[in-house]
Amino acid sequence: MASPLPLRFVLSAPDLSALPSSPGEIAVAGRSNVGKSSLINAVANRRNLAQVSRTPGRTRLLNLFELDSAAHEVRGSVVDLPGYGYAAVPGRTRATWQKMIEGYLLGRDTLRMVAVLVDGEIGPTALDTQMLEWLRAHELPHAIVATKHDKIPSTRRQKRKKDLAVACDSASKDVTWVSAVSGTGIDQLRTTMRGWLAP
Ligand code: GDP
Repeated sequence: MASPLPLRFVLSAPDLSALPSSPGEIAVAGRSNVGKSSLINAVANRRNLAQVSRTPGRTRLLNLFELDSAAHEVRGSVVDLPGYGYAAVPGRTRATWQKMIEGYLLGRDTLRMVAVLVDGEIGPTALDTQMLEWLRAHELPHAIVATKHDKIPSTRRQKRKKDLAVACDSASKDVTWVSAVSGTGIDQLRTTMRGWLAP
């Protein structure tokens, strides 16, 4: 069994320039409600670690978590990107916000992987496919992680996974499907994340 990632919250930053350097970083992206906080908590095996990303004032910031270097681990960090798709965000703010996320993704030179979370129950939304297209256009390394595996009955999972992959313009084998509730895939994801961070 893969041990939990020893993540600890470091800071929230309004843009790339306010982030400390990192030997290697994984960015976690997804629309609000996709299960991003639950997933970060699950890989770290902490109940409330990612709640910090949801506190007022931090929902639109880059929230940085570091792997505790005392834990004899691979070194690196995880950045929780603001959840996209809050309908309540006015156009002007949305543009600023988008610029901030794009600035981070294009400018963070130690970025190893962008994990794009897609809701496994409802499939990718237009915002998810836009994000994937944007990442492809900029040739940024990315991986699709589907959430909420437990919400689909086992008899429908295989087809759902295939459909998810097609909707994301990807191959079924390239989609990791996890559940923060049942724990399905979490162990595998921890190992995969360590692999992304390994020098
Ligand atoms: P975030 O907005 O992306 O950070 O999403 P949250 O982690 O807060 O999750 C949004 C909602 O989905 C909450 O009600 C969670 O309890 C639920 N949720 C998250 N992950 C799972 C999962 O793996 N299975 C199920 N059944 N529900 C989940």
